[in-house]
Amino acid sequence: MRSIFHIPLRDYPITRKLTLIMVTVTTVVLIMTVLGFMVYQVYHGRKVVRAEISTLAKVMGTNCEASLVFNDAQSAKDALGGLNTAESVLFACVYGAQDSPFACYRREGKGAGASSFPSFPQKSTSGELDTFFSEITEGIPYVDDYLDVVEEIRFDGERIGRIWIRSDYRQLEKSFTEQLIITAIFLLAACGFSFLLAKRFQGIITAPILHLSRSMKTVGDQKDYALRVDKFSRDELGELYDGFNNMLEQIADRDRELEDHRINLQGEVDSRTADLTRANRELEETISMLSKAKDDAEAANRAKSQFLANMSHEIRTPMNGVLGMTELLMATELSERQRHLAETVQQSGKSLLGLINDILDFSKIEAKALTLAKVKVNLRSLVEETMEMFSTTAHAKGLELACFVDPNVPVAVWGDPDRIRQILINLMGNAVKFTFDGEVVFRLWVKTIADGKCILRMEVTDTGIGIPKDKLDAIFDPFSQVDESMSRKHGGTGLGLAITRQLASMMGAGLVVESVYGKGSTFSFSLELEIAGELKRPDDPWRGCLSGTKILLVEDNRSSREIISYYLSLWKVNLVVAETGKEALAILRSARKENGPFDIALIDEVMPTMNGFALARQIRSEPDLAATCLVGLTSVGVTNDHQEQDMPFDSELNKPIRASSMLNCLLSIVEKKQTTISLDRKPSVDVPSRIKTDARILLVEDNEINREFAQSALEILGCKADFAHNGKDALTAIQERAYDLIFMDCQMPEMDGYEATEKIRQLEAHGDGHKKGIPIVALTAHAMRGDENRCKAAGMNDYLSKPFTVDQLKVILEKYLGSDDDETVAPSKPDGVSTEERFIGDTDAVLEESVLEQYKVFDAVGKKDFLPSMINKFFDRVPQQIQLLRDALCQNDTETVHRIAHSLKSNGGMLGATRFSKACLALEEETHKELQPLTPGERQNYEKMIDTIENAFEIVKDELTRFLSRSR
Ligand code: ADP
Repeated sequence: MRSIFHIPLRDYPITRKLTLIMVTVTTVVLIMTVLGFMVYQVYHGRKVVRAEISTLAKVMGTNCEASLVFNDAQSAKDALGGLNTAESVLFACVYGAQDSPFACYRREGKGAGASSFPSFPQKSTSGELDTFFSEITEGIPYVDDYLDVVEEIRFDGERIGRIWIRSDYRQLEKSFTEQLIITAIFLLAACGFSFLLAKRFQGIITAPILHLSRSMKTVGDQKDYALRVDKFSRDELGELYDGFNNMLEQIADRDRELEDHRINLQGEVDSRTADLTRANRELEETISMLSKAKDDAEAANRAKSQFLANMSHEIRTPMNGVLGMTELLMATELSERQRHLAETVQQSGKSLLGLINDILDFSKIEAKALTLAKVKVNLRSLVEETMEMFSTTAHAKGLELACFVDPNVPVAVWGDPDRIRQILINLMGNAVKFTFDGEVVFRLWVKTIADGKCILRMEVTDTGIGIPKDKLDAIFDPFSQVDESMSRKHGGTGLGLAITRQLASMMGAGLVVESVYGKGSTFSFSLELEIAGELKRPDDPWRGCLSGTKILLVEDNRSSREIISYYLSLWKVNLVVAETGKEALAILRSARKENGPFDIALIDEVMPTMNGFALARQIRSEPDLAATCLVGLTSVGVTNDHQEQDMPFDSELNKPIRASSMLNCLLSIVEKKQTTISLDRKPSVDVPSRIKTDARILLVEDNEINREFAQSALEILGCKADFAHNGKDALTAIQERAYDLIFMDCQMPEMDGYEATEKIRQLEAHGDGHKKGIPIVALTAHAMRGDENRCKAAGMNDYLSKPFTVDQLKVILEKYLGSDDDETVAPSKPDGVSTEERFIGDTDAVLEESVLEQYKVFDAVGKKDFLPSMINKFFDRVPQQIQLLRDALCQNDTETVHRIAHSLKSNGGMLGATRFSKACLALEEETHKELQPLTPGERQNYEKMIDTIENAFEIVKDELTRFLSRSR
């Protein structure tokens, strides 16, 4: 319904809608009225007819009364004949007392309708006629075509007969039909008329609406808010007009306001823009001033730091002289006063040197000139050695010094040992300096080990003066101290922690402090370090090695007790702990009686009440206890109250206790023989027993410095080598002699290492009497990832990237020249062979001293002059080579330029001259791709690069000279 009527109607014009509504309403009302009237007419008409026929029946009955009484059927028939005037009566029948038809009337002619006549009932009994009459009179009065009326005929109150009249309704219906037609015609006329009227009068409503609508359209189209509509009336439509006009008025007002505002705004915007432009200009000027000021400040800062660094360097050299001379002076015969003066000079000199070193480090860090080395570090040794440095001072102050190194700490990690040591020295130095009673404990333990990395936590705890809460942050600021008077007394610059924190953060660690004022402090940091080589735990083989040995530990200090107990528990010792001498004696005595004596007693020499010596002497004096071996835990620097001859201990261990020393000591006692066990795989330069020292080695190397280094390193390792200067010489050499191992430089004149190796492999393949599969190890200064593959493709077995260390060389020798009886499987990849991290790292240091540190191994075998001679050769060679570079460039010989740059890079790398090597690498890479002839631009570029190399050389030359003078 809705979709049929509602939607189309909704879009009709309002005039049509109104007309339609009016016509529809009128029509519906008329139809309803007419229908009501017609229904009434039918109902009423029938009612009247019924009443009339009933009256007629009664009258006829009365008329036939006499006829029935006198049984005169004819007169009754005549009387019935009068019904002829009543047009609707179809027939009538009078029944006698016995309900037999007495007289009948039947309409004749038009309208009689034969079918309308029922046959007269011939009933034998009055009961049957009753039933018949009741049936015909109860017909439906408005639906049936006929009306049957039966009336009784009475005489003296007694029924003497009945009259039955049937009337025809169809007459009535005919007149109704006529009425209906006429009414319908009128209805139509009325609808038409109402349409005309509606059409005419809807204008009263629609005209103002349409007018308003048109006006709105005009306003909308023309945006003419000045337009007003004239009101037609004062009704709601009139109000609508007023509302509309009012609205237009408001819009016009708003427009005016907007316009005014716009005009003002424009002005405001213009003025603001001008302000902003001015402010912007000022800001830009300020920024540029600030940026210049920042650059100036940074430059000044750099200059200051550089100046400080230079000055520190310059001062350090004479300071070394002063200290050295003072030491020499003190070694001579001096009077008491002179010695005192000399000692004061030495003390002051040392303080000054410390200060200078701090300033140098600090300025280096500030100038971002400090780079971290990445070398193999044995952390356990580093820590233990550092702790030992403090034992004298700490014990002299009566402090307990304990050191715990987690047995899980990997044997070797990659890191900068000097800087790690510096951090530890600083923290330990402070802890010892600011503690006057109690203990200083260092702990190193492994937090995690995974994916070739480990996180190690280091912690220095003391029971010293502590730091006030409000100073906890400030102590890390440079030159800041909690109590300057104390620092004056004990020395210190206030730079130590600033440097330490910076160093720790360069290693990715955050240095934190926790302290309770008056009670003590804990400084700690966590370092993430790469594990060098395979993950080996140093003391794995020793776990449980003292299983069952009965040991008594007598130690009054809790930390030391815990640390020593922990180590002993790893070796599965049967341990009992005592805190005092008295307690120890009681335990020893009762053990003797109950379950046998202790094998060993570890006794702290410094204890209150009964010290270690007194206890030991007491034990010695009791024959029952004499079987127990006594080991004294001695604090270096504490005056012992014993003479060498009445030494009550079988052996002594220095505090802080090293796990390895303790194990050695205990094992030697247990096995009753001296067994030395090293817990650590020290970077040793001993001739490794596993290398066949009579092996024949060929070293193919064109660069004199590199050759000399390799030769000396091989000598240290007990090997000798023949030399070849290039690939061609090497080929000749191997034809003359069978070699066990060849070290092959890759870049060489005439025939490079790759080609030489390929040729050697070809010769081997032809089987011309050559030894097959000689191991060839590349010596490459490329140190790029990918070099390894190139070497392997050429047929080389391994590679050693320059600069290499003696240790790395040793690993290679062990791998290829391991003695036949050597069961040890050589590592498949040389452990730590590649030093590429150092070479291609981000560092741009002029001189990486850590590289030079590695030459110390030569000192150890009496070749103290080796490094100076290498450096001098470097000094001699580089200027010549730079001249050759320039000559080659003049002749457009980029190949020679490339080769010399490569060789210089390698020499620089050997001596830690990283910046110089990088400058050479840049030229090497640049000339690698060049084809002749050179363009003027390229030539200029190369000349600049050679200048850079020359400059870098001059700078590193100074640094190396200083290094030499320092280390002399
Ligand atoms: P300094 O060379 O004076 O020791 P540091 O930077 O190493 O300089 O330390 C700064 C200050 O922090 C010290 O002067 C001291 O006041 C305080 N401090 C450092 N370590 C400790 C500690 N373990 N116990 C108490 N105070 C400490």
